[in-house]
Amino acid sequence: MIHYQPELPHIIFLFSDTGGGHRSAAEAIIEAVNLEFPDQIHMEMVDIFKEYAPPPLNRAPEIYPPLSRMPSVWQFGYRASDGHRRAKAINDAWWPYVSRSIWRLVNENPCDLFVSVHPLVNTPVLHALEHRSQPLITVVTDLVSTHAFWYDPRATKVVVPTAAARDRGLEMGVSPDQIEVVGLPVADRFCVPGGNKTEIRDKLGWMQDTPTVLLVGGGEGMGPLEQTAMAINEASLPISLVIITGRNRRLKAKLERQTWNVPVYIYGFVRDMPDFMRASDILVTKAGPGTICEAFIAGLPLILYSKMPGQEDGNVSYVLDENAGVWAPSPNKVVRTIKDWLENPKKRQQISDTCLHLARPEASRQIARILAAGVGIHKK
Ligand code: UDP
Repeated sequence: MIHYQPELPHIIFLFSDTGGGHRSAAEAIIEAVNLEFPDQIHMEMVDIFKEYAPPPLNRAPEIYPPLSRMPSVWQFGYRASDGHRRAKAINDAWWPYVSRSIWRLVNENPCDLFVSVHPLVNTPVLHALEHRSQPLITVVTDLVSTHAFWYDPRATKVVVPTAAARDRGLEMGVSPDQIEVVGLPVADRFCVPGGNKTEIRDKLGWMQDTPTVLLVGGGEGMGPLEQTAMAINEASLPISLVIITGRNRRLKAKLERQTWNVPVYIYGFVRDMPDFMRASDILVTKAGPGTICEAFIAGLPLILYSKMPGQEDGNVSYVLDENAGVWAPSPNKVVRTIKDWLENPKKRQQISDTCLHLARPEASRQIARILAAGVGIHKK
């Protein structure tokens, strides 16, 4: 339950810790609002599943990682629900089941504006808001293959990261004047100039002289992270390897027990990802939208080693079409690509330049201005 401060406009962000991207996006926008409009807007984040969903949906953050390790089940569910009519049928079917929770959510959280950064929240909340004057703005946090659940024409505005996401929104019935292409919100720490590579490596205690490969599997340490790390290790490349296992503690402990042929640094969930990216030379990652856009800003060439079927398919094609990286769905292909880039630094530099060109470091602040305007506050 949130305590309303009537003296300031009040925005509530509806998110969930299913993966790391929804939280990162909400936090990045809140930070940008505070930077652009200091002390002018009161903001809160509400975890829709943990705090409001009926069981077993309230366990979604715990169910998501094991479910994501069953790609065919995930893909089936994703495809079966992804379409204008199918999404509507599903929303209609689960309304009787979730309605009490959604009513409780809107009644317990008085605010001037709801912002949704999660696809599942849009239609149920808009349904509950139908006879109220409260607006809801959706910020789409998938890049290209955006699920039908993201788009509900009753939203006041829909902010999307790419032209492809805009086209999908139009197909789903959102009107052109409701939808705006801005980019994916990324934390300010990625967007402002940081320290140089030498200083940051020094601070982190990493080797200075070898190319550094950063291996990360999203907020949950997903994909064949262990096999990929072991293949890189067995290839005995002239690199340092930094592995981030995110919230996957078991994997961290397992990797810490391995014997390594290369200098290796193993971390759980890190809070200073911008430094990790700035201090690295190559990023091997699951095709998460947040991580990809952060890597663009850091000019970090991408090797995508896995993807969540459905919502991350388009991320892979986007990175490949734009020549910002390589799709390497097997540990051997990851190793071959790293070798290739070590032997061809010019190629790696070109890809790094492309990443910088694709970066949209202004996105969070642009979204901040859209939300502020939504509660009647404009930049002086
Ligand atoms: N992240 C982080 N620390 C970690 C691992 C991940 O801050 O140890 C952040 C990462 O920088 C990104 C987000 O978590 O902002 C992951 O989002 P993405 O969309 O890439 O993947 P998801 O986890 O949502 O599948």
